[in-house]
Order: sequence, then structure tokens, then C-alpha cells
Amino acid sequence: MNQPRASFACLPDASRGRLHAEPDKGARGPRTAFQRDRDRIIHSISFRRLKHKTQVFVAPDGDHVRTRLTHSLEVAQIGRTIARTLGLDEDLTEALCLAHDIGHPPFGHAGERALEEAMAGAGGYDHNGHSLRVLMRLECPYPLWDGLNLSWETLEGLAKHNGPIFAPNWALAEADAAFPLDLASHASLEAQVASIADDIAYDNHDIDDGVRAGLLDFDEVLALPHIKAVWDRVCATYPGAEPRRLRAELIRQNIGEMVNDVIGATRARIAETGIETAADVRAAGRQIGGFSAAMAVTEKAHKAFMYERLYHHPSQLVAADACRTVISTLFAAYQANPALLPAEWQAAMPESAVARIRHIADFVAGMTDRYAIARFRELAGPVDLPEIF
Ligand code: MG
Repeated sequence: MNQPRASFACLPDASRGRLHAEPDKGARGPRTAFQRDRDRIIHSISFRRLKHKTQVFVAPDGDHVRTRLTHSLEVAQIGRTIARTLGLDEDLTEALCLAHDIGHPPFGHAGERALEEAMAGAGGYDHNGHSLRVLMRLECPYPLWDGLNLSWETLEGLAKHNGPIFAPNWALAEADAAFPLDLASHASLEAQVASIADDIAYDNHDIDDGVRAGLLDFDEVLALPHIKAVWDRVCATYPGAEPRRLRAELIRQNIGEMVNDVIGATRARIAETGIETAADVRAAGRQIGGFSAAMAVTEKAHKAFMYERLYHHPSQLVAADACRTVISTLFAAYQANPALLPAEWQAAMPESAVARIRHIADFVAGMTDRYAIARFRELAGPVDLPEIF
């Protein structure tokens, strides 16, 4: 059932438009501006590459583990549920959820850190800034302009879904110079919902993947009081069910609790601040979409546990080291010898030193895990990654 649109939703018909004017009613179906944005993202090369980019586990052989693509799909599912219930624009939320990780390099945060170091002389690297660069410059499927020519609301939401930006990095500053995104104000509620949906998705799916990988001991996960409470309820409801079914039920119910909390807390903040329009959301001076204060504390403890036990697990740290070596070796090799780059990247190599570093970073950041590993093997030999799956 479609919920009526709330007065504070972003309406596609009231969009601030696209950088390059284009007819909005084409022959390819009656879609709103935000539906078109979502579809452009789904059809992009960078979106397909998310299939082989690390979420938590590097280049997994296991077919059941999340990648950045399946993570993005789970974020979109959660984001759409919240958006629809709150009366927000579901399509804009979905577009933001699907694209939120599109600027991630191979190997997740290990890859990001290696790129940051390699780009120290060229303003550094930030995956969010790079998302804008991907969508506004690097993807180029259109005859007349670079980028996907997305709506202002989609670019704005991606740029600042985690809050206002007062000191934009170079990539965001370039995007903002080309198409001013009001970086210092808060983002739309659709973007705030996409941001919290990201947290809900990985907080929960990483328990599943961590236990499957054998890195998380499920009994230790039960040391988290909020997880234990859900677990006790699930076990009482389904006595004698197989543990793997109970664990799936636990994850399902915990996602549901977090989603309900966000819906309730967001509604309460909307009422409390008297927000009536999308402009009010941007001018509110605080995040409106998100967890209640109590759930925020619970979730913080959850993340702290996951950092300690999973993200910083000794075998994950070994993998991260190997990944940083892959990225820094490739980067240095392309810098020393640009002839190693594919022909079209060589042909497009800019003149200035800073632009050359950014050009090489664009190429390396676009790599999938397996592409980066294959290029490293050609140049330097095998990559020593822990066998997990
Ligand atoms: Mg994410």
C-alpha cells in the first residue's frame, strides 16, 4: 500500500533539477526524476563493480557472504521501509541507499587508507567525495556530458547524508563548485534515512557473516544485552528450532526493532521541532532521522563490540595489511610507469602532478578486489590472504 507523501518529503516535481538540462518525459517510461536517478545508478558500471568489492571480508570465495553490492541492496530494503512509513520519497531514498557506497575502493577501509596515503600530495582520498566524482565525472554513458547527470537532491543527499559539511575535501569541493549542493546545511530526511539504514544493515548482517566466517563466537555475541534480550524471546517463541534458524530470526527481529525505533524517534523529532517542509529539515540545525537516544547508546555498544571482535579481529588485520600492500604497490607502479595503465587511462593522463595522482587514484579506486589482486599478481606475485571462507 502506498502511503501518502508527507509535507516534509522531497517531491520529484519540486526538484532543483539536473546540472545539464534534459527533457524529463522521454520514451522510456513515465518515471519521476528520482526514479530515473535510481535507474541510472543501477545501470552504471560502478554499481556492478560493487559485486566484487569488500564489505567486511576480502574477495570471499564463499557464496553466502555479503559484498558491497548485496550490502547496498539490504540498505535499500531497510531504507525504503522506513521512507515509505514516514511518507518520504521512497525512490530518492532507494537511489541514495543504492549509491551510498559507490565511491568505495577495493578492500573496504583498508583500501581507503592506502589510497589516502598514496594521495597525500593530492588532497587525499575519501570514499564519500569519490562517490560524487564517480557519479558526476567518471561514469560517462551519455553523449553530451560526463557523469550520470543526477538530480540535485540525489547528489546533495549523497554528499552530506552523514550531516552538514563545513570543510569539504577537494573532491566534494569540486562537485560543489560544479553544482552547488548547500553543503553546510543538513540533508533531506530521505538522505538521513539512507544513512541510518546503512548502520542497521551492517550492524545486523555482520553478525551473520562474522559467525559464518568463524570469527565471531555466537555465545560472545549474546554478551550484548540487547541481542540477548531478542535471543531469549526468539528461543522462547520457537523452542527446539535449529540454531541457524533461530539466529536468522534473531537478525530479522533485531532489524525490525531498530527500524521501529528509527520510525518512532524520527516522528517524535519531527513533531518536537515542528518540521513541515523539506526546507525545514535542511534548516533544522540537527539530524532529524535516526535512532532514539536509548537505541543510539545500545547501537554504539554494538558497534564497539563489532570493532573489537570482528572488524579488528587478528585475521582481519592481517588481511587489511595485505590489501594495503596491494593498493600501495599498484599505485606506486602506475605512478612510476603509466604505460602499465590500460590504453584509455594512459591517453587521458592529465599534465599536472596533482591531476595525475588523482587520475591514477580514479583508476585504482574503481577496481574490484579481484581485479586489484590480479594486477598485483602480474606485477609482484601472490597476495597472502587468510583463508576464511
Ligand atoms: Mg554502507
